[in-house]
Amino acid sequence: MTGHGVIRRYRDFLPVTEDTCIISLNEGGTPLIDARQIVTEMGADFNLLIKHEGLNPTGSFKDRGMTLAVTKAVERGAQFLVCASTGNTSASAAAYAAASGLTCLVLLPEGKIASGKMAQALIHGAQTIEVRGNFDEALNIVRELGKRDDIEVVNSINPYRIEGQKTGAFEVCDTLGTSPDMHFLPVGNAGNITAYWKGYKEYFEVGQITKTPKMMGWQAEGAAPIVRGALVESPETVATAIRIGNPASWDRANEAVEQSDGVIGMVSDEEILDAHRLLARTAGIFVEPASAAGIAGLLKYHHESGIPNGSTVVVTVTGHGLKDPEIAVENSQAKPILVDADLESVLSSIGLE
Ligand SMILES: *Cc1c(COP(=O)(O)O)cnc(C)c1O
Repeated sequence: MTGHGVIRRYRDFLPVTEDTCIISLNEGGTPLIDARQIVTEMGADFNLLIKHEGLNPTGSFKDRGMTLAVTKAVERGAQFLVCASTGNTSASAAAYAAASGLTCLVLLPEGKIASGKMAQALIHGAQTIEVRGNFDEALNIVRELGKRDDIEVVNSINPYRIEGQKTGAFEVCDTLGTSPDMHFLPVGNAGNITAYWKGYKEYFEVGQITKTPKMMGWQAEGAAPIVRGALVESPETVATAIRIGNPASWDRANEAVEQSDGVIGMVSDEEILDAHRLLARTAGIFVEPASAAGIAGLLKYHHESGIPNGSTVVVTVTGHGLKDPEIAVENSQAKPILVDADLESVLSSIGLE
């Protein structure tokens, strides 16, 4: 492992040359955090490790793919980066565009973007357009725009996004020294489950690992086209980052699950919000709601099928909790206590003398 950022660290597995000018914000290298408190709470007995992707430069795993997509866009001479986004792709695209000097255009579904993500697109100077429609409609427009030669689409239909994101799997294996038994993660457009599976398979092929994990993907009940096997016209969920009715990598997600002998399931908004609080309260890890879908899936799967004792289980939590502060305040089910500015008032407010 040499250099900073996922391209320098894993360049042998990525489509770059010695001459490629790398656009990086030192993404990747995120921690794998021991979360045995959650396992204890579940009354189970396995090793739980949380890959905290909220600790990337723009607060989500999207940076792993964006560094490569933007690097390749610059290399081929594109002028504009364009994406449709439920928020994190646009935040990442806006930041890497700023670092590269390209112009960025983002299309967002009106009123459905968490405030932190909107702030990121705006402060990094992206041309920010709200569309009266949902993500899937915005992506259709982006596909049309991408027919122009001067425009680079940086949604996960861009193959470099998946290539960059597969480095998440490399890091898990490098840290563990082996492959986990199961890998849980949320599923929206299904780019990330596709990318992790690709990463595990490539590490297996070169002999870095001797087995591959079961891929365990989780959609929100109101946005679960892959689980239901049918397009969802008007997806709805509190987990806005996975509010997607027609996933771009639908087939490849099914492939990942089949080839790895895994599962694709769905969890309710209530289960997602419970997991969101549990992760924050029990493990000290603050994520956005979509990121908690993998944890909700872990609890549900263990309840229904049982996770074998002694297994090593990795859950990727995809984005930072500060992206969506309003939902966090609401879901904390708590309020600050207002007191007079003296010691006695503070002590008595918490029941001390
Ligand atoms: C993009 C995103 C997802 C969904 O990932 P896909 O690759 O679209 O399946 C989940 N959580 C967060 C926080 C995201 O930003």
